[in-house]
Amino acid sequence: MTDFLLALYSYALILSGLPPAPPPELILEPPEFFWAHACGGQRCPVIGWYPESGGNVIYVSDRLNFENKVSASIIVHEMVHYLQYHNHQFTDTSCSHSLDLERQAYGVQKEYLLQEGVIATGVGISIMSMHCTD
Ligand SMILES: [Zn+2]
Repeated sequence: MTDFLLALYSYALILSGLPPAPPPELILEPPEFFWAHACGGQRCPVIGWYPESGGNVIYVSDRLNFENKVSASIIVHEMVHYLQYHNHQFTDTSCSHSLDLERQAYGVQKEYLLQEGVIATGVGISIMSMHCTD
C-alpha cells in the first residue's frame, strides 16, 4: 500500500473511531465493472464500491484523478465500509442499520474533506432523502 493510501486509511480509522483491521487492497476498475457488479447490469453513476459480501478489496473508478481531494474522499468512504465489515457491522442487514452505516461513511468522508480544506456541500446529499419503511 502506498503512503498516499496509508494516509487515507489513517483518516478512515481515526475519523470513524472503528477498531483497526489490516489495510484493504484498492483495485481501480472501469465504469462497466460498477454497472455489472454494483448496479445489477444497469448503467449507473457509482464510482466506489465495497461488496456487501465483504472481503479485503475496495473498488474505485479508474476514471478519477486522486490529486483531487473529492475523488480521494471516495476511497476514504469505501475504507469506512471496509472497517465496518471487519468490525461485524454488516451482520444486521435492516434498512435502518444500512442507512446508519452509510451516514457514518459519508460523515467520515466529509470530515476528511473539511480537514483538507474542501467544503463538500454535495457529498452525502443522496442519503438525506432516503428513509426506511421497515
Ligand atoms: Zn457508502
